[in-house]
Amino acid sequence: MPKGLFITLLIITPIVMASSLGFWGFVLGVAIVVISSPIIWFVRKNRYFNSEQFQTLRAQIASVVAEHNEVVTYVSEIRSEGAFELGSSSTGQYAHLARFENTSAWNNRRDRNVAEYAPHVHNASLQVVRNASVEPIKYLMKYFEIRPTQETLADVQRVAQDVSRLEEAVGNVQRREAEIVAMIDPPAFILKRYSGEFWGLVGAHLSPITVPYPSYKFQYTSAGGNSGQDVNIKLDTPTLDALSETLAQRIRWAKSAAGQRALMTAGLRNWIKNRDNHTCQNPACGVSVAAEPHLLLEVDHIIPVSKGGLSHPENLQTLCWRCNRTKGARMPA
Ligand SMILES: [Zn+2]
Repeated sequence: MPKGLFITLLIITPIVMASSLGFWGFVLGVAIVVISSPIIWFVRKNRYFNSEQFQTLRAQIASVVAEHNEVVTYVSEIRSEGAFELGSSSTGQYAHLARFENTSAWNNRRDRNVAEYAPHVHNASLQVVRNASVEPIKYLMKYFEIRPTQETLADVQRVAQDVSRLEEAVGNVQRREAEIVAMIDPPAFILKRYSGEFWGLVGAHLSPITVPYPSYKFQYTSAGGNSGQDVNIKLDTPTLDALSETLAQRIRWAKSAAGQRALMTAGLRNWIKNRDNHTCQNPACGVSVAAEPHLLLEVDHIIPVSKGGLSHPENLQTLCWRCNRTKGARMPA
């Protein structure tokens, strides 16, 4: 029976019975109302499920239910085939970065003797934890060593695809279930109290699968262990997209501008000097190691990196330190 009616009867029945039967009438009144309530629900439920209306609708939507069940199977396939961890191919690779976390329920005191392996938790200073909440992508990359490489980008893209694919499939199943409910339109108490029996009779297999978003946690625990703060970064679709974009930007950036200096190596510098016979390439100078054994030679970008010059051999030349210094003064790189 509805809650309002139940409460009304629970108040009125004992009073009415008490007026004629005294104290025991009051007790009996309470007992009758409390015991009869579930019996009434049970009777009403059985009457509904056996009704012609329910049986007819159930038969009518059989094909809708069958298709729903197929999508549920598909969801479990996506879940088992997909990758929902970054760098899952190299388990333990980042173990040295992850510290240990005690997940005791009664307090957040760290106990180093019963440490648990938790690769996605980074214990950090309060400042780092706060910064991570403001700039999650930046701190995620920095503290969990997500490097801006093509391989990482491919990995992130793969996880993002599997996450969004599963997200959409799970959302689809939920919309199908809402549609089934709308088509049958059962009384509210059926879904509230007998939801399992309802879906069982309809024949729909409910999926227990939710999207297992990869997540990373920055955690601060004070020295005494009495206070703590943490930030969880869940790699849902918007976060994964932002991560992909940041990685792509950084990879592009590494191919131009200031990134060029990083691509210069000792090996390349030596190769350029050998190519130029250890001779200053400024035509007005032409000094060489052959003439000056202790000559300091440097490798110079003909078109400076700041003006888009690349670290390619065509754009590199050997200059003596003097000419390079003069050039640097004339045209700051
Ligand atoms: Zn020179």
